[in-house]
Amino acid sequence: MRIALNKAHFPVTVLGPGRRLGLWLQGCSIHCPNCVSQDTWPFDRGRETTVAAILTWARKVSGDQLDGVTISGGEPFDQPKALGALLAALSHWRESIGGDFDVLAYSGYALSRLQEKHPRLLAQLDALIPEPYVDTLPRTHLWRGSANQPLIPLSPRGKARYAPYLEQKASADSRMQSWFDGERLWVVGIPDRGDMATLEAEAGARGLTLKDVSWR
Ligand code: SF4
Repeated sequence: MRIALNKAHFPVTVLGPGRRLGLWLQGCSIHCPNCVSQDTWPFDRGRETTVAAILTWARKVSGDQLDGVTISGGEPFDQPKALGALLAALSHWRESIGGDFDVLAYSGYALSRLQEKHPRLLAQLDALIPEPYVDTLPRTHLWRGSANQPLIPLSPRGKARYAPYLEQKASADSRMQSWFDGERLWVVGIPDRGDMATLEAEAGARGLTLKDVSWR
């Protein structure tokens, strides 16, 4: 099954509990104002790979040792067939290694719409953070970008694992990770308002110019 992927990384530690695989799918039709991931918006077939290739990479980089998988984007539910194949492959992997990693997905769609249109996909997830990013609302809770976004455990595993975090407030530390890939700087996590401007200013003060940034 083909799937459009913007990037993948391991370990991600700022988007869910523990050491996680991060998968950012390519393509988003929602276009929340001031989204920091605007590079994920185009439905770019040049970004296509396969679910099998993602699983091969995931097993290699994690050594089958991981606490969870976070699927973000982009809008994962804009590729429902591919997302279903990915979730099935992750479930099969988990069973084959006797693992207990959880799968958390982000979506900019309303929970009611996802429940109506994609109940089978929700049934394959352990937890979900739905609703669009609203730049005029504050960032209040852990792993969420704006105050309208709930954290919803969906499975027994998700309910057990995410119960301690449902009302946990966002903190200043551990909200973002970054790494270099050649000449590209990747920043993942949930930035606070003004973080990206601060990043650009601090890079500029060190003689680095950030070109083609994803947040405008
Ligand atoms: S925040 Fe998510 S849903 Fe909203 S525009 Fe950005 S990628 Fe799309």
